[in-house]
Order: sequence, then structure tokens, then C-alpha cells
Amino acid sequence: MLDTQVISKTSSTRAFIAGEGNHMSGEEKSKGQQLEKDLLMKWENLGVEDPTLLEKASGFCEGYKSFLSNKTEREVVDHTVPLLRSRGYGEYVRGKEYGPGSRFYVNNRGKSLIMVTVGRRPVSEGLRIAASHIDSPRLDFKPNPLFEDTDLAFFKTHYYGGIKKYQWSTVPLSLHGVVILKDGSTTGVRIGEDPGDPVFVVTDLLPHLAREQMKKPASEVITGEQLNILIGCWPFPDEKVSQKVKLNVASLLFEKYGIREKDFQSAELCAVPAFAPRDLGFDRAMLGGYGQDDSVCAYASLMAELDADPEYTTVTVFADKEEVGSDGNTGMNSQTLKDFLTDLVSAYGCEIRHVLERSVCLSADVNAAYDPAYGENFERNNSSYLNRGAVVSKYTGAGGKYSTNDASAETMGLLRAILDEAGVTWQVGELGKVDNGGGGTIAMYMSAHNIDTVDIGVPVLSMHSPYEVVSKADVYMLYRAILAFFNSPRSK
Ligand code: MN
Ligand code: MN
Repeated sequence: MLDTQVISKTSSTRAFIAGEGNHMSGEEKSKGQQLEKDLLMKWENLGVEDPTLLEKASGFCEGYKSFLSNKTEREVVDHTVPLLRSRGYGEYVRGKEYGPGSRFYVNNRGKSLIMVTVGRRPVSEGLRIAASHIDSPRLDFKPNPLFEDTDLAFFKTHYYGGIKKYQWSTVPLSLHGVVILKDGSTTGVRIGEDPGDPVFVVTDLLPHLAREQMKKPASEVITGEQLNILIGCWPFPDEKVSQKVKLNVASLLFEKYGIREKDFQSAELCAVPAFAPRDLGFDRAMLGGYGQDDSVCAYASLMAELDADPEYTTVTVFADKEEVGSDGNTGMNSQTLKDFLTDLVSAYGCEIRHVLERSVCLSADVNAAYDPAYGENFERNNSSYLNRGAVVSKYTGAGGKYSTNDASAETMGLLRAILDEAGVTWQVGELGKVDNGGGGTIAMYMSAHNIDTVDIGVPVLSMHSPYEVVSKADVYMLYRAILAFFNSPRSK
């Protein structure tokens, strides 16, 4: 929550805070007004606090927009590695004792990344970790996806992550991924993103005939097995073939990618919304786009990692598989990160368990923004709001605080001190009403390694939908928050 008592303000912004400007001088506060100022919190829109912020935030978000055009974990890694190399990061060499200021990265199977900047203090004093995820909800292909029905060709999908299935019909889709061919070579697929590309779609029933469909609960309006992607309707010109449309698509796929039907069994392909990220609103203060959960935190932490001049060694993690529970060797519920950190610190003669207990982690993930259209699902005093800054979540989870890392008061206190010292505006946020559901992040997997961990992110409207919305100013504040965390000399 914004605590106006401790946030340092520039002289140019000071005048915009009621009661603090010169135009108010001479007006005596009543005792109650003074107490209110001293004791109670006051929420303020970031734009009231600093009207110049939107320009800075918009500039920052231009880079974010192009980052967002990477729509799968593989594409994010492929985009980020050259950027890291251009900024002086080399591939990690096991056993090497890196000096302060050294920068390196680990590319885990092209699907998750670990980036490090060695701090001025020895690693024995602990690490400062920021961990986000770069996978997003989408429609994965089934291993045997290609079929024809009534002269239409489709790909069958198996949805990945928590989606409202009905949101994914009648949305232009693009196809992304890799196929490992019989000879072991890899073919990359990315079609539907360039203006000249075709797009694809999951169909829906016309309203005229939807009397029965519209009576169904939303979870059944479109079922998992109806999430079939329409990919063709033109036949292969040969009377002797039975499935002409399927064959025509297959021949086009072979022509363009060298793919045979069997090759789908050694592939990772998915469909995602085809539209590009755009400014949103007349004021252009928001950004709409697919995959902002959690690319928004990935980008903010990446920029903080690149700009850091750290006291403690920074570790920036891009995780995969968060949307399906963090399992697998590219997810955070694995030993991969710990094994790497063990190698890293043993080069300095340190025991990993001693380093981890002195480390702090920001689990960088988005939170649900209060939406007035669905206000009854939120508890107003503990929800996050667009344009109130980075959102810190003490815990996530569901029900009676199940499946969560509940950050300690001390960890919250440390982060509070760091953010307030740096003049970063932040708010707290729970994920909606206690009994309405819930959600998790990778925080619990980080803290399982005995790392003090707390969640931070930005509020998002329409989370997990094909078109998520964030405030540009919040994105910029998150970057400043993570940068402050990396640069702060504060110890636990
Ligand atoms: Mn997330
Ligand atoms: Mn998510």
C-alpha cells in the first residue's frame, strides 16, 4: 500500500499532494487531520503522485512491447540470450570463480534461464534472487493433432494452464513451437504473427442455434475436446484419396517445414492469440496483450538485472511450467536452480545451504487487479489496483492459506524498507475474496530451499485471458522495485 509518509518525493511532484503544496501553506491542519496524516494510510493514483511518470513509463514499456511479441518460453529465451550477450553476459562456466561485476547466464534446455551478476560482497553473504515465469496459458497440440471432419481440417489441442475455455474461440490464433524430425534436426514454427501470415481459429456456435449451449455453465459452453483449431478446407486434387483436405494441409506442412504426420509426436507446438500488444485507452496509460502473466515481471526483472550495480550477487530466473504447477526439469519445483547455485557457490568454497539461508527472493508474478465490473469477487481493502504501483503479496494460495509461501513479517519489513528507501510506490494485494478461489506462484518452491521469499508483481485485468491489461506506470514501478532490491546494501 502506498504510504505517503515515507515515500520521498521530488520537489516537482510535492506540489501535487494535497496539503503539502505551497498553495496550502498557512492553512492549519486540525488535530484530526494531523492524526489522519500521521497514522492512516492514503492511497493515491501514481499519476496524482507524479504526473510526469506516464512519459517515463511509456518509454520503458516500448521495450516491453517488443519483449511481449515473444509468446512462448522458448521464444523468450531465444530473444533474451542475444540481448544478454550484447550486454556482456557469457555462458556460465562450472567451477569458475567469478569476480565482482561478472555477468553470466545458464540456458536450461532453451526453456528457462538463470542470469547472474556477481555483487561486491562475497556470495557467502547471500544472494538476491528475482524469479518470474515465461510460460503462459495457451492451447498445446495433442501428440496426434491432425484430423479431418466434413471437409474441414483441424488440429486437436490440450489446453495448458488455467483458462476459461470459451474465451479461446473466435480469436485469431498463431502457431508456435518446435518439431524434432526423424533425422534429429529441429524445425521451428512461428506462423500467424506477421501481417502477411494466415491465422487460425477455434469456431463457436452461432447465437441463433445456441439456445441449449447458452444454458450451460461457462465451464461447459466450450469443452476441452471442442478446442479444435481450424486449419484448412481445400482438398488435395486426387479422386483416389479419402481425406483430401487433411492431405492437402499435410502436403503444405511438408513443403514449408518438412513435417510428416508422425513428426507431431516429437514436437512442442501450441496456439496462442495472434494479436500484437497495443497501447490501451485514450490516455495510452495501459497496455493490452497476450502473455503479460508473467512476461511483465520477466521483462521488469530482466531490465533490473541488466541495470543493476549490486551489493549482493543477483540471480534473475525465468522459469517454465509455472502455469501447470512448476513440475518438470524446467520448472521451479525441481532441483535445477539449486544444483546450479550449488556449483556457483562451491567455487567460492561455500556450502549452498549456508548461502540460501542468507538469501532473499522476490517471486515476481502478477496479481489480480480490482475490476469494478466484478467487484463482488474482491475484498476492497486488500486488493491491488491499477496505477497504485508494484503489488506485494505476503501470501497467495487458496482456502485457509493452503499451498503458499506466507512471507514472514521480517521479510515484508525488509522489502518495505528497501522499496521505501528507493521511493518506489507499492501496494499490497491478496488474490480476491478468501472463499472465491485462489492461485499460486513459484514462491513456495523458492522458500522450500530455505530462502526468505515474498511475491511482487503488477496488477492485471482479465488475467489468463487472450488479452490481458496492465498499467504502464505499474510496470515501470515494478522495474524500479526489483532494481532497488538488487542494488540495496540492506542486510536481513
Ligand atoms: Mn503468473
Ligand atoms: Mn498465471
